[in-house]
Amino acid sequence: RTVYVNGDYLPEEEAKVSVFDRGFLMADGVYEVTSVLGGKLIDFAGHCKRLARSLAELDMTNPHSDDDWLAIHRELVARNGIDDGMVYLQVTRGNPGDRDFAFPPADLPPTVVLFTQAKPGLADNPMAQTGMRVISIPDIRWGRRDIKTVQLLYPSMGKMMAKKAGVDDSWFVEDGLVTEGTSNNAYIVKGNKIITRALSNDILHGITRAAVLRFAAEAQMEVEERSFTIDEAKTADEAFISSASAFVMPVVEIDGAAIGTGKVGHVVPRLREIYLDEMRKAAV
Ligand code: PLP
Repeated sequence: RTVYVNGDYLPEEEAKVSVFDRGFLMADGVYEVTSVLGGKLIDFAGHCKRLARSLAELDMTNPHSDDDWLAIHRELVARNGIDDGMVYLQVTRGNPGDRDFAFPPADLPPTVVLFTQAKPGLADNPMAQTGMRVISIPDIRWGRRDIKTVQLLYPSMGKMMAKKAGVDDSWFVEDGLVTEGTSNNAYIVKGNKIITRALSNDILHGITRAAVLRFAAEAQMEVEERSFTIDEAKTADEAFISSASAFVMPVVEIDGAAIGTGKVGHVVPRLREIYLDEMRKAAV
């Protein structure tokens, strides 16, 4: 695999980052994951916009223009022959040459790393037919979940708790209300209405979420941005998650209780199809 490190395209074996990098020592960095379908980038503008926001919230300078980011993504996709897959991008506060809690001077160059992951048939995930099962767990993450930081230990633990329970993912719950999934936004469907938590510092502002809500409204579905409980989710007609890599994925079971019929419904597959169709058309 060819990876990108600070301006160079290198075989992954030759790529190096300092042990003093703030990303490695402090999880002081942000990331984006962009899907590739048919060799093209999905919702690239959305990822650039959120990257800029995450960096600004952490007082980091964006090292590249959106056009430069696009060129790097395209170059990596081409060099690695990616048809369907993902491009991972990470920007950390760089290597101050020592360990210190205080931020280094703002002119320290950040560390920029990108790599690709091939995922043949990414849009044909069989889980879209069977639906996924989730458990609920307490949300004990920090208070700035709107910033897409590389601090992913608790989401990883949440994924492992799901695995140990024999299911696919965990939904986080705070003050009795669902925040989001380990790496996705959470929704329920009641009749023709899509319900998902409103944006705040409590959840990541999913770019897939933004697109899905827009397409739902355009398809004459009702959209309600509000919090919901696990009990309300259990009695919903359908449920689903959204993320840049899973797109729209049905959820058919929560904490052992079947949602609706316990099978994939009608609204979620329709939303998934609209999302994939529209985003493929707009891919760059
Ligand atoms: N929420 C969390 C905690 C995430 O990690 C992610 C994606 O990584 C999402 C939501 C979905 O965001 P997006 O649709 O931009 O991938």
